[in-house]
Amino acid sequence: MNEREIIDAETKFMANVYAKKPVVIVKGKGATVWDVNGKAYIDCAGSYGTCIVGHCHPKVVEAIKRQAETLISCHGSLYNDVRSELLQKIVQISPKGLNKIFLSNSGAEAVECAIKVARKFTGKPEIIAMMGAFHGKTMGALSATWDKKYRDPFTPLVPEFKHVPPDNLEKVEEAITDKTAAVLVEPIRGEGGVRVPPEGFLKGLREICDEKKVLLIFDEVQTGFGRTGKIFACEHWQITPDVLCLAKSVAGGLPMGITIAKEEVMASLKVGEHTSTFGGNPLACAAACAAIDALIEERLPERASTLGSYFKGQLENLKTRHEIIREVRGLGLMLGVELRFDVLNVLMKTLENGVIILDAGKNVLRFLPPLVIEKAQIDRVISVLDKVLEEEEHGRLRSSTPNQNA
Ligand SMILES: *Cc1c(COP(=O)(O)O)cnc(C)c1O
Repeated sequence: MNEREIIDAETKFMANVYAKKPVVIVKGKGATVWDVNGKAYIDCAGSYGTCIVGHCHPKVVEAIKRQAETLISCHGSLYNDVRSELLQKIVQISPKGLNKIFLSNSGAEAVECAIKVARKFTGKPEIIAMMGAFHGKTMGALSATWDKKYRDPFTPLVPEFKHVPPDNLEKVEEAITDKTAAVLVEPIRGEGGVRVPPEGFLKGLREICDEKKVLLIFDEVQTGFGRTGKIFACEHWQITPDVLCLAKSVAGGLPMGITIAKEEVMASLKVGEHTSTFGGNPLACAAACAAIDALIEERLPERASTLGSYFKGQLENLKTRHEIIREVRGLGLMLGVELRFDVLNVLMKTLENGVIILDAGKNVLRFLPPLVIEKAQIDRVISVLDKVLEEEEHGRLRSSTPNQNA
């Protein structure tokens, strides 16, 4: 099939729910992907942050090949060697005290499990989430997600969810009642615009939850596995939640969701109360084992920290030269650049120039590159962005002051 035929078939047969960009990606390696015409792109979207060890990491490829020839499918009601290996690896790298795991297939599912376990453990219904939060789009996760455009068409949602202003301990404290099971929070809000909380917020949250005997759930679906410069973002503040949700990057690009909790919390779920047919399937587990090995052996969290600081510094430099940049935010290789206007044009133009960038809301450019991205590639991204922002500024100047030189 040629480019046109591929696009036409997807347009015709696929539910029209993704904001499509006009490229057909057919191949990837490290931080580079190629389209059907052989054009290369630097992938600062990393498939929405899933390709943390890079596209087609050799270790992950090898593990998938080996496992595909051995055993692809094995339900959780039977024991399996690679699943057992993965569970041990996850506990080894997880914050101390988190040691019981439920395996699923996506971020939303990881959150669903957290919601159910919080209700079951506490015997209470209410979940407090943050305004601006994103936790996924299945009905439970969606009830915790903030954005009205995702929620409103699907009401009634799951009852007993409430949202409080982010980064505000007093509001959380006020919101907690004797019906509250848990506070659910992204340590750094991703979809909500790449927002790092003020110093003391997460620690304060931990203290409030302890005091009020409410569970603290961290959604690290986007921040987990090295993205922010530590294996988990909660390590930056030395806080351990009661339940931790992971997904996106955990299996080298294959689907996997992980909910990891304190033993007594997860123990509240009894046999049959929460299961998933594909959860913990050997193929995804083998890929996840290899991805964790690569993450540790190649010291990718450290790399995210070093290269992230460099990248952020370069973006700050751009800010000094471009009025239209309002703010540069982020930690490690999870970065956001807030513009003074809608970013769509900029995204399309950088794409034409061989750089894939994400948005996070209307005004924010978001960077979630594989942690194996090279410094030279970051430099290239900066120079493309520099050029595109310059063109945008000129374009805007012309259209906003049409008669100035007339
Ligand atoms: C992406 C994301 C989710 C949802 O993950 P899916 O795999 O798309 O269901 C949940 N929480 C956060 C913080 C995310 O970034």
